[in-house]
Amino acid sequence: MRKLVAGNWKMNGLAADGVARARDLAARAKAKPPVSEIVLCPPATLLAPVAQAIADSGLALGGQDCHTEAAGAHTGDIGAPMLKDAGCVYVILGHSERRRDHQETDAVVRAKAATAVAAGLCAIVCVGETAAERASGRTEAIVVHQLRGSLPPKLNAATLVVAYEPVWAIGSGRTPTVDDVAAVHARIRAALHDLATQADAVRILYGGSVKPVNARELMAVANVDGLLVGGGSLSTEEFWAIASACD
Ligand code: PEP
Repeated sequence: MRKLVAGNWKMNGLAADGVARARDLAARAKAKPPVSEIVLCPPATLLAPVAQAIADSGLALGGQDCHTEAAGAHTGDIGAPMLKDAGCVYVILGHSERRRDHQETDAVVRAKAATAVAAGLCAIVCVGETAAERASGRTEAIVVHQLRGSLPPKLNAATLVVAYEPVWAIGSGRTPTVDDVAAVHARIRAALHDLATQADAVRILYGGSVKPVNARELMAVANVDGLLVGGGSLSTEEFWAIASACD
């Protein structure tokens, strides 16, 4: 299976710095094509110029969210067909920041994933426990519960990527131990056998404070098929070092 490294720029970037970063990454990818698949997920305002900057580079484009409906009277939202039209191949859904800031439930994430897949996108569905949930020993139960609620039926390796992102690890500089990551990823893999087709081929990403110094170690964990990178994707050097560590 081809590993996947996704950079989630979140609500960061203006045309000048975002497009320059995309151009720089595209030049590096052309000079030395990465073994892993690399996806850039800029804010919606930069989708079009980033798509242009990475054309013919082998890098892929992803959105950070989409609406549950494909189109309609939803001011300020973005529909999955619009992402597809802008050149996206992927869309991140159910990120803990969306769940927190916009009260997104598992049912909402599931509806978004169904709409995204119907539009021809691959959904990167995020799950992960809070610090309190981990402290209470419920991590695996919480993650499986989120997964069951967030996945529409019959997704497969072409339409689904799962990202395990412990909420407490995002942007904190803290990561779970490799044993903890291995345990949760194995549990996700087992759950996928009930929830998706081609379960063994569905990529499961780890996300949360991934840096060049820990990327290789995390990628060596069983059932870690790639990385979702937030802060580390805002620096070309750092993101390229992470992506290269995955090759
Ligand atoms: C994220 O928010 O998806 C993420 C992984 O963030 P960070 O790498 O900054 O922890």
